[in-house]
Amino acid sequence: MPPRPVASPPRRITRSSLARFRYGDANGSSSKENSTPPPATDIEDVIPSATATRKRKRTTVLEPSSTSSPRRTIKTEEMETKVTAPSAASRRQRKPARKTVDADTGEAKVSAPSDWEEMYDTVKAMRAPGGVAANAAVDTMGCERLAEDTASPRDRRFQTLVALMLSSQTKDTTNAAAMRRLQTELPPHAPGAPAGLNLKNVLAADPELINKLIWAVGFHNNKTKYLKQAAAILRDEWAGDIPDTYEGLVALPGVGPKMAHLCLSAAWGRTEGIGVDVHVHRITNLWGWHATRDPEGTRAALQGWLPRDRWREVNWLLVGFGQTVCLPVGRRCGDCELGLRGLCRAAERKKVLEGRRRRESVKVEKVEEDDGAVVKVEEEREEEEVVEKDVVVNEKVESLEMDLGPSNLVEVKSKPGLEQREASTGKRRRSKKT
Ligand code: SF4
Repeated sequence: MPPRPVASPPRRITRSSLARFRYGDANGSSSKENSTPPPATDIEDVIPSATATRKRKRTTVLEPSSTSSPRRTIKTEEMETKVTAPSAASRRQRKPARKTVDADTGEAKVSAPSDWEEMYDTVKAMRAPGGVAANAAVDTMGCERLAEDTASPRDRRFQTLVALMLSSQTKDTTNAAAMRRLQTELPPHAPGAPAGLNLKNVLAADPELINKLIWAVGFHNNKTKYLKQAAAILRDEWAGDIPDTYEGLVALPGVGPKMAHLCLSAAWGRTEGIGVDVHVHRITNLWGWHATRDPEGTRAALQGWLPRDRWREVNWLLVGFGQTVCLPVGRRCGDCELGLRGLCRAAERKKVLEGRRRRESVKVEKVEEDDGAVVKVEEEREEEEVVEKDVVVNEKVESLEMDLGPSNLVEVKSKPGLEQREASTGKRRRSKKT
């Protein structure tokens, strides 16, 4: 029986193996061992690197024969170590949410998109009072805020449901105006009963009148029909209140998954899913968090990884952001922190560059009195630090030039401030007296 091959032990790095790189060996030492010439390899070639890839290289050299012997072929083999840096393309890519299955347990897990939390917190800061995305229409006229404070809890819940039913394909401002008309102009169902928006008054009202009151909202004819049908269901099946379950809510005519989740949160204080508005769908796809076809797909994708404590907030957050900064048409990337910080892959490069330039050239005007004469001082603010982090918009000017081509290069360079910014290192301060 042939002897079994013995597997060679893994190569170890020991002190003695590294001793040949000791300082002084190359210059010749008095000791006998050190009299051997120093190795030609560098120490970094010996210590394996985590990012290094080893590649076997085979070289064939054809040597011309010097005498009568035929040409000799010398084959040499050497190990080449190549260190690969992460490519620029891979750095710029945002990893979307991805589903992985644990090989051992078979359990599926959804990983969140890379840097989602930084983006989320940045948007939150923009939506805070004083931020560029503060004071959105949804903050004061969102469906959650349209129920009357003076109404009973049951009527408030009903009004929230009606506001949501009217809100589809309609701006918040228009929806708020229609709700106001219903709350003030809907006649009482019986003499002496209170007027305004409640279940009994809707049941008693003429559909023509309701249609007239809500004529400004999109698809008002259908919405009038759904409102009357839903009111009858609430009276017959829910004892005059709105359903307190997702299933009960989506069973009402004209109520979809988004409305049901939002209604459950706003009316009953229970969040069982994310209400995904078109703004949420559009913006999260722009960011590359996922690639979904419709708001329902976005809801399922977000629910796979977004922490539950953000489920209620995320719709409000992104709807307001979509109404003020990341508009469906005419996005304000030059004012958006995500664009300025290089966190958004969909940022419009030209607007971001303009926004950065604007930010740098904000001037503080001071009026000083100098011996009775009024002196105006224009002082340029310190340049804000911009973290170059991510995608296309943060390319340096050179790469922008490459993309735009030489014809546009002149235009880019000729714009005031750009050359100065290129030349600047660190803080700059300039003042001008007039
Ligand atoms: S940078 Fe532009 S596209 Fe990106 S989130 Fe901001 S406004 Fe939207």
